[in-house]
Amino acid sequence: MPVGFPSSAWKRDFRRRLNRWFGKNARELPWRATSDPYLVWVSEIMLQQTQVRTVIPYYERFVEQFPRPSLLAEAAEDDVLRRWEGLGYYRRARQMHKAAKQIVALHGGDFPTDFDSVLALPGVGRYTAGAVLSIALDSRLPIVEANTIRLYSRLLEHRGDVALTASQNRFWEFAESILPRKGCGQFNQALMELGAEICKPKAPICESCPVRMQCPTFAQGMQSEIPAPKRKVAFEDRREAALVIWRDNRILVRRCGDSERWAGLWDFPRFPVAREVGEVTRSQLVNGAKQLMKLRIKPGARILRLRHGVTRYRISLECYEAELVGEEQRTLREDKAIRWLSIDELADTPLNTTGRQLARHISANRIVAEEK
Ligand code: SF4
Repeated sequence: MPVGFPSSAWKRDFRRRLNRWFGKNARELPWRATSDPYLVWVSEIMLQQTQVRTVIPYYERFVEQFPRPSLLAEAAEDDVLRRWEGLGYYRRARQMHKAAKQIVALHGGDFPTDFDSVLALPGVGRYTAGAVLSIALDSRLPIVEANTIRLYSRLLEHRGDVALTASQNRFWEFAESILPRKGCGQFNQALMELGAEICKPKAPICESCPVRMQCPTFAQGMQSEIPAPKRKVAFEDRREAALVIWRDNRILVRRCGDSERWAGLWDFPRFPVAREVGEVTRSQLVNGAKQLMKLRIKPGARILRLRHGVTRYRISLECYEAELVGEEQRTLREDKAIRWLSIDELADTPLNTTGRQLARHISANRIVAEEK
């Protein structure tokens, strides 16, 4: 037994209190109605860094379209990304797509049920493999993720930086040590539910917590100090420009490269510009288009400004109309990372968030213009 862990009696009491609380308070969630490991896996990937209420409609649409690994494997990447659009962290969707292909190639289309095979799937780490197999098949595997890290920190009165390897190792050992012999899927879900719903980062609802009498952090009133607060992110302002380039009622879009933000998604040609006030200058637009895609353009009017955040950047995106000049149109036709799309086709193409906002703006203004 590692030093500093509670006694066996403490653990028995903890399991009993937690299970009783979960029996009365578990939320009804669509993925809790299944023991299909594939569906549990879809929910677990979607829930990474994303809130439950955001995930529910995405999960329902996704599993309706891709109810089995083989259907996900056969789908075009654009279709998978379109289903994912708006959920963020698009790498998850691309890795799921790859994982589905691996499931078909190596496991005959059946989601694997042994830990090593699940762990070998793209985008799956120790937490996800443990969560899927314990929830779907009641395998006796521990879990450590954001909500439980906070809960374990407080139960263990762990004051160190939770991101350190030593801290992570401690949490995994603790998670393993408290597992019941049976019912691990329920138990793991109860831990996550308690972390998410009661043991919240700010102002945990200790008065409703079933294990408060066992919690040293509660006893000492240290909830705001444990876990140690993260360092504040230093935000950086950025300015970017996007171009709306028309040809025969079609608009130019480009596929974001594998090393770019939004890899695999489509977007309007977009590039950074200097952070100055007022309009982006013509030469900034001309040079930006040239550097991004070797495009020679004639800038037009600004049509929209969008503000949004990506990681630590607060971005002001200035959207301009532009025309191609010279011989560009011929060379562009041969590039697979470029498409000319009608407004209707844009609706079926996976775009990043600002790309979708801009596409909707163009569509709405076209309709208004045509009605005049
Ligand atoms: Fe978290 Fe409060 Fe419960 Fe302790 S008593 S586990 S701090 S909610």
